[in-house]
Amino acid sequence: MAGKKGFLLCVCQGTCPSFEKMNFFEILNTLKAEKLVNFVPIHLQLCADDGDEFLKILLSNSRIEKLYVAGCDPSMQRKMFRDAFEEANFGREKHFAFDIGNMDTKQALEAIKKLIKENP
Ligand code: SF4
Repeated sequence: MAGKKGFLLCVCQGTCPSFEKMNFFEILNTLKAEKLVNFVPIHLQLCADDGDEFLKILLSNSRIEKLYVAGCDPSMQRKMFRDAFEEANFGREKHFAFDIGNMDTKQALEAIKKLIKENP
């Protein structure tokens, strides 16, 4: 069975000023409509304990071939998700991170689509 690709949007609880110019649902609806990935969940705070649990459960599914994560700085994401990836046995090379802080909806969508298309 073919591997699945997911896009995960992390929104810093929806309260961070760097995300205030973005319509999260418009981003997810556009990605869903364009079928660039197989699933498009949103998470409030991946770097919190429940985010860790979410990543462990999600990525324990060996059918997930790639995970694109838009949120904060890629190096921060790599550090914060490291333990969950290890526990789920999810290779770090399958994680594609992108910082969408301070972008508006259009900018974020363009950046996300570019990242996905460049790493199909
Ligand atoms: S993982 Fe990054 S974007 Fe998500 S809540 Fe933590 S700091 Fe914010």
